[in-house]
Formats: sequence, structure tokens, C-alpha cells
Amino acid sequence: MEDCLFCKIVKGEIPSKKVYEDEEILAFEDINPAAPIHILIIPKKHITSLAYLEKEDEPLVGKIYGVMNKIATEKGFKEDGYRVIVNCGKNGGQEVMHLHFHLLAGRKFGEKII
Ligand code: AMP
Ligand code: ZN
Repeated sequence: MEDCLFCKIVKGEIPSKKVYEDEEILAFEDINPAAPIHILIIPKKHITSLAYLEKEDEPLVGKIYGVMNKIATEKGFKEDGYRVIVNCGKNGGQEVMHLHFHLLAGRKFGEKII
């Protein structure tokens, strides 16, 4: 996608503070952190949102959860806990239209919606 912000981050056209990378997945620090640790995990492939996930992409989502688990273990917040958020579409409050998982840690999240 030509003018997708996160595709540009994948291509290195926009800098990011990388936390993890493999051939399919990139994780980097959120530029406007909502917690002491706020990492975005994205597929390198452009997927607009969870609503546009194809059947063939479903194993990739499983791998993304595995990467989040790995990051939590390596950064030492696995036991304290963390929150994963995926905003989807207009009503979900999604601003960047490239599927991403927010991984938030380092504080207690009290404001529960559900
Ligand atoms: P969402 O509202 O779920 O679409 O989340 C988009 C997230 O991307 C927000 O938390 C932003 O702070 C973050 N963001 C926007 N631009 C950048 C950037 N250049 N590098 C890292 N994170 C970014
Ligand atoms: Zn993209």
C-alpha cells in the first residue's frame, strides 16, 4: 500500500524503534505511549483491519499472539500481566488502517470496558 503509514514503517521509509522482527511480523514502540510499555505488533503484509482478515491470514494472527507472548517473557512483564487491544474500523476507534495489536504493560489498567 503506497500511502499506508505502517507499510512505510515496514519498508523503513519511516523510522521506528523496533522490538521484534521476522519475515512476516514487525513489532515497534508506539510513538504516543498510553502505558510505560506500549508496543504495536503488525503483520508486514498490508491487512486493512481485523474486518479484512482472509482465511489464509488466520495462522499469522496466531503467530502475532506468540510474538506478544515472547515479548512479554523477554521484557519481564509476563507475570505482572498486560493488555492487548485491537481497534477495528470507525466504531472501534481505529486510526491507522493497517492491522495492529496494541501490547500495553507496566501499569494496572482499571478502566475496563468489558
Ligand atoms: P489505532 O488508533 O488503534 O489505529 O492506533 C494507532 C497507533 O499508532 C496510535 O497508538 C499511535 O500513537 C500510533 N502511531 C502513529 N504513528 C506512529 C509512528 N510513526 N510510529 C509509531 N506509532 C505510531
Ligand atoms: Zn499497510
